[in-house]
Amino acid sequence: MKGWLSILFILAGLFWMIPATAHADTANVQVDNLNVRTGPGLSNSVIGKVQKNESFSIVDQRGDWVEIKWNNKTGWVADWLIQIKQDETVQSKVDYLRVRSKGSLSGGVLGYLMKDEKVTKVGESGDWVKIERSKGSSGWVHKDYLGTYNTDTPKDDTASSRPSSLGEVKVATAVLNVRSEATTNSSILKQVRKGSSFEYIDEKQGWYKIKLDGSKTGWIAGWLVSRSGDASSDESASGTKSKVTLQYNATNIRSGPSTGHKVLGRAGQGDQFDVVSKEGKWYKISYKGSEAYVAGWIVDESDSSKPTPVSSSHLNGKTIVVDAGHGGFDPGAVGHSGTYEKTLTLQTAKKLKFTLEQNGAEVVMTRSNDSYLSLSARTALSNAAKGDAFISVHYNSVPQTIKASGINTYFYSSNTRTLASNVQSGVTQATGLRDRGIKQGNFHVIRYNKKPSIMVELGFISDADEVKTVKTSGYQSKASQGIANGLISYFK
Ligand SMILES: [Zn+2]
Repeated sequence: MKGWLSILFILAGLFWMIPATAHADTANVQVDNLNVRTGPGLSNSVIGKVQKNESFSIVDQRGDWVEIKWNNKTGWVADWLIQIKQDETVQSKVDYLRVRSKGSLSGGVLGYLMKDEKVTKVGESGDWVKIERSKGSSGWVHKDYLGTYNTDTPKDDTASSRPSSLGEVKVATAVLNVRSEATTNSSILKQVRKGSSFEYIDEKQGWYKIKLDGSKTGWIAGWLVSRSGDASSDESASGTKSKVTLQYNATNIRSGPSTGHKVLGRAGQGDQFDVVSKEGKWYKISYKGSEAYVAGWIVDESDSSKPTPVSSSHLNGKTIVVDAGHGGFDPGAVGHSGTYEKTLTLQTAKKLKFTLEQNGAEVVMTRSNDSYLSLSARTALSNAAKGDAFISVHYNSVPQTIKASGINTYFYSSNTRTLASNVQSGVTQATGLRDRGIKQGNFHVIRYNKKPSIMVELGFISDADEVKTVKTSGYQSKASQGIANGLISYFK
């Protein structure tokens, strides 16, 4: 049975891989009971009728007539009674974008799109886009991972037909992209520098259409310019400056707001950049005297006007050993929806490292990638390190038939009870998850550890609701802040 299924999936995949052919436009019927005929002309016999708002692929066009694909055959309709819609070309923003049999996560995976691969958009439903790679090979992909592919080259307006100027705008950011359309998805025509002024001839959805050299025009984002006679906007643009802090090492800094854009450089965990603007899920940042983009889901945004925590001095000079539970071939618990404990512990440990360092502590990680480390290697590492505390990060799990949720902290020797209770109350306060209290536990990493050591279980990944919470970056940041708060109280 299982073998049969795999063969079916392979066949589905092969079918999907049929190479692309030219795509067709669509005919959208504008009237009811439109005759479908055997040929292009009123003298041809009627073989059926189509109704208003029905759509058909166009196979051919002759004079005022259009041949459509209809009921597994073809027929001709008068082109003045239909609207011809050109199919939009879209492209994948990521590698291995899943193409599904229907517009939902429950649709089977038919195949994949690679980054920048272009396909035809043939429909849309909710958050899902129906795409076609070749005739008869269609599927659904989530719209968040698709970008529009702009084939239009900017049209030059002739000088005589140009509308008159509506006013003047001044560039209020270091470098500003001039685009072919009033959207960040459109192509970049050129870049203009801070302080330069342009006449604008149109305005829509927060964008200005500006006059460029010669007869050219382009669009610039209205929130990055100031209008002449609009004195306050220069100040407000720089006054509300916020920063992003990178959460991971080797974060790609890109030339544009998608993973399809060129990598300009890489920056490390903790590096901060000024935010110029937010474009979709991407931040435009000041980078090496120019501008660049970083993905919004891998940074922490902070308003620079917010005070930095005053408690930072309490962890000054302290060294904390942070132990991400499991790793490598040991996944730890496998939670609801297939989440691995080892993944969550590593994500959280990295955030914890960052938070502790921000509070002045030094951090030693037992592992900082997905590698296997035996329990005795972890304790040996901790015992050898100069360290003031050892925190092992875990997530909990129970069999599906049992309902359990919340956070608990284990200690082994009674003199680490205070450390456990401080961290337990710090984490439960910061996250708001159920407080399951502290417990004595006979676990290797805390039993054979010479440092004050605890093991914190940051929630149940066997619980369908709780796993959704604990796998978010926001939750893990809060949990890290909670552990840091607990350590601050402990060392006070
Ligand atoms: Zn564990």
